[in-house]
Amino acid sequence: MRKVLMCFFVLPLAMVSVQGQETRLENVENKTILVFTPHPDDDVFGAGGTIALLNRNHNKVHIVVYTNDDKGSYDPEMTSQRLARIRRAEQETSEGLLGTPKENIQWMGYDDGMLEYAPQPKLTEEATAIIRRIRPDILLSVDPGQWYERWHKSDHRMAAFNTIDAVRAAEFWLYFPNQKLQQGLEPFKVPEMYFYYPSPQEANYFVNIDSVAELKFDAAAKQVSQFEPAVNRYRPDWDPKDLAKAKEEMRQEQPRKDGHYVEAFRYTTGFVQY
Ligand SMILES: [Zn+2]
Repeated sequence: MRKVLMCFFVLPLAMVSVQGQETRLENVENKTILVFTPHPDDDVFGAGGTIALLNRNHNKVHIVVYTNDDKGSYDPEMTSQRLARIRRAEQETSEGLLGTPKENIQWMGYDDGMLEYAPQPKLTEEATAIIRRIRPDILLSVDPGQWYERWHKSDHRMAAFNTIDAVRAAEFWLYFPNQKLQQGLEPFKVPEMYFYYPSPQEANYFVNIDSVAELKFDAAAKQVSQFEPAVNRYRPDWDPKDLAKAKEEMRQEQPRKDGHYVEAFRYTTGFVQY
C-alpha cells in the first residue's frame, strides 16, 4: 500500500520539477553548493563554467572528489602514488582558478577505477554524512539518468548512483542512525539537484557560460596530466603550441545553444520513490 501511495505523490512532483524552479542557477547568490565528482577533473570539464559563476555570485562551493585518479597515465615511468599527488595539485589549481578555495575540496580517497568494488554501505554512509554535514541548498553530481547507465565509465556510474543513494539516505534519519546519535548530524533533504554529463536526450537545463568560458578552458588546462603530451610522458608544464591546440579543441567541443557556450544539466528537485 505504501508503495502505491508513494507513486501517486512523488511521480507528479518529479514530472513538474523543471517548472517548479524559481531562480536560475547562474543567478543564485549566497547559497551553499555541494559538487560531487568521480575524478579530480570531471567537475571542471562538466560544470566548471557554472562553478565559476556560482563562486562569482558569492555562493559557498564545496567539492567532494570520490577517487584519487591514480591510474590514467600512459607514462611507463609513472607510479600511482606520484600520479595521485599530481592530480590533487592540478585539481586544487584548476578549482582555484574557478574561485573554489582548496580548503573546500574534500577527498574521499578511493582508488581510480575501483569505486564499484568499494564496500557499498561504507561508500553511501560516507557520502550521506557529507550531505548531512554540509546541508547544501543545491547539489551537483554526475547524472545517474537512464541512458548513461550503459555508457558511463566505471567510476562515473558508481559516483552517479552512490550520490543519489546518499541524497535519499540523508533525508531519513534511520539510514545510518549513528550519524545523528553519535555525531549530531541531523537528517537533511536536498532541495535542488543539477546533474552534469547528461545524455543529450535527457538534458533539460542549460547554463550560459559565455562570460566565463575562457576561464573554464584555462582552468581545465591546469589539469596538464590529463592531456597530450603529458598523459603520454609526464611533464608539469605546457609547450605553448600544445596549450593553444588543446584550448582550441575545448572551444570546439564545448556545447553551444543559440550561439552561446552552455553547460548542460538534468535538473530535478526529487527522485522517484518506487
Ligand atoms: Zn572522470
